[in-house]
Amino acid sequence: MLSNMLRTHYTNQISPQEIGEGEQIKVAGWVYEVRDLGGICFVVVRDREGKAQVTLVKKKTDSELFDFSRKLIREAVISVTGTVKPSDKAPNGFEIIPSEINLLNNADSPLPMDTTGKVEAELDTRLDARYIDLRKPKTNAIFRIRHEVLRSVRDFLTCNGFIETTTPKVVATATEGGTSLFPITYFMTEAFLNQSPQLFKQILMSSGMDNVFEIGPIFRAEEHDTRRHLNEATSIDIESSFSDHYDVMQILEDMLSQVYLNVKQNCESQLDVLDLDLEVPKTPFLKLKYEEAINIVNSESDEELEWGEDLGTIAENLVGQDVFERTGQSHYFIIDWPTEIKPFYAMGYEDNAEISKSFDLMHRRMELASGAQRVHEYDILKNRIEAKGLNPDNFDFYLDAFRYGMPPHSGWGVGCERLLMTMTEVDNIRDVVLFPRDRRRLSP
Ligand code: ATP
Ligand code: MG
Repeated sequence: MLSNMLRTHYTNQISPQEIGEGEQIKVAGWVYEVRDLGGICFVVVRDREGKAQVTLVKKKTDSELFDFSRKLIREAVISVTGTVKPSDKAPNGFEIIPSEINLLNNADSPLPMDTTGKVEAELDTRLDARYIDLRKPKTNAIFRIRHEVLRSVRDFLTCNGFIETTTPKVVATATEGGTSLFPITYFMTEAFLNQSPQLFKQILMSSGMDNVFEIGPIFRAEEHDTRRHLNEATSIDIESSFSDHYDVMQILEDMLSQVYLNVKQNCESQLDVLDLDLEVPKTPFLKLKYEEAINIVNSESDEELEWGEDLGTIAENLVGQDVFERTGQSHYFIIDWPTEIKPFYAMGYEDNAEISKSFDLMHRRMELASGAQRVHEYDILKNRIEAKGLNPDNFDFYLDAFRYGMPPHSGWGVGCERLLMTMTEVDNIRDVVLFPRDRRRLSP
């Protein structure tokens, strides 16, 4: 039970049956509303968990306290000391009869935006005043769910023998080459913000740590401005030794299903606020070959996709819809991608090197994760790096780890925000990040 100087209870911890008559409690929070009816005044106080009604009857209340309460300003911070009285008319079935109300800090007015949810503000206004936006139950609910998602991921992976790691975000070499990097000045040299922990988690496979995971930021200097791309995102990454791509796909689908289940069980009130009836994905997920996905696209649209082409947004949606109509499931894998369109570290099949042991985890609306069994042989890896037009010398720190006993290994990376936005059914990825970084947004 919570108890500190200024409060003894969150508003949702107050039950009139459990609190004795005359027992003093304290709640603290923000003034949500003041309703002054002349002879009676209601002050609704809001905290992280909900709201409580404070009732002041003029005839029965100290006149100084009554006058003070009537003049409270919305969103000011207060602490209320009083007793609890059951009441059919009050929203939660009780009201607080105050003996003392302390103004802890006042609020300016007008507020940058409405907090009651009655007036819907533009996304930019909300993000500029995130501290106010988060006072709204809907926004707050998303980040409580985000917490539960991350907690469940950690719990699931830890229980399955994975060790949590943290690897550098300031690096000398691009993970996969390419242009989508943010250069920074690192003392006298140029460095970059890492676009993925890929190379480091693979190095750790040579260390004998066997199964590792990392939850951390990835930076992509992509210029597109879409509803599902950020320039700083949170990636949930695993790497697993002595595993093939099927082994890690199973970990991924089991994890996803467990995360949904935990959110369903532990975030009931948040799901209510968001009006969501969460369906726990059924495992195993459908595993659709890349070739089959291409065939679906070609049979359902005028555009002819050729083998070796990546799937664009429209193609992804066509396939997602087709799978959903056939199976009733939103989640599925696309497996066996052409090696040439996957990164250099994706391993080709032994009997056909043109097809890779790689997969994407898809949600009907978008890609959620990419993964693969990795090349673990030094010579092949070095050739693959060269074939991508990259200079292997820049990858020595990585390649060296493959020379002294690198086990076969596989892994994946899931975008935490993509997982959340598909789970909570929000349209814009910025809604599931506290302080999003995109092309136009660097502050707050
Ligand atoms: P996409 O093709 O959708 O842009 P990607 O294939 O470039 O994604 P990967 O490099 O495979 O992305 O990264 C693994 C996962 O990390 C993605 O499946 C996605 O969930 C997440 N992710 C990657 N880039 C971004 C981004 N810019 N914003 C948000 N999430 C991202
Ligand atoms: Mg990908």
